[in-house]
Amino acid sequence: MTSKANHKQEKEQFIKLFEKDRIDRFEDRLMILEVFLQTERHATAQELAALVRQEGRDFPDDFVRETIELMCHYGFAQANRFNNGQIRYEHRHLGQHHDHLICTKCGKIIEFEDQSIERLQVQIAAMYGFHILQHKMELYGICRGCLDQRAPVLSLDMARAGERLKIVAFAGGTQSKLRLMSMGLRVGDQIEVITNILQGQVVIALDFSRLVLGQGLARKIHVSPITVDTEPSAG
Ligand SMILES: [Zn+2]
Ligand SMILES: [Zn+2]
Ligand SMILES: [Zn+2]
Repeated sequence: MTSKANHKQEKEQFIKLFEKDRIDRFEDRLMILEVFLQTERHATAQELAALVRQEGRDFPDDFVRETIELMCHYGFAQANRFNNGQIRYEHRHLGQHHDHLICTKCGKIIEFEDQSIERLQVQIAAMYGFHILQHKMELYGICRGCLDQRAPVLSLDMARAGERLKIVAFAGGTQSKLRLMSMGLRVGDQIEVITNILQGQVVIALDFSRLVLGQGLARKIHVSPITVDTEPSAG
């Protein structure tokens, strides 16, 4: 999605705009731009500061953040906040657009571009008499690498929000089994995870009701993911 020629052009424009607007510490900021253009990652200001340090310059995180914010202002960078996490910056190449698949397990970010989805969005907006100025599409899920690593059966406390699962067994003693059954849970039930915060409560949907479990009880429910068959293209 990017090229060397592209980056050379970005650098030239940066020099022109920053000189024209008399931005202070021009050389330092240019160095940060160069490091930023060298990475294709979606990096936080802190990560960027670390990359700059690898190149032999040590700037406070705040200075790096301020510089990258300036780059956003002039359209060289774009800020994203995936999954309400930290702000991550990526290149902004004029006339180019992509959307993101974000793995909620390992944090991997995959970029994709699909013209039919882009067109469909415009069509949908038009149906409402709405003119789209910009959009961000973020699809959250589990990447192929994480899917491959995952055991076919896991305990519910390991599941992620949004996962659809089938209950395959109840572990633990009679006491906890009875407790789960009194909540209306049965082996074979299909559930969806609404919330699962580390060390906190697990909220699940069973048919049309919401059930709240502690981590301890959730650990006793063994589930297997219900996967929609997404035949990956050969490779
Ligand atoms: Zn898009
Ligand atoms: Zn992953
Ligand atoms: Zn991206």
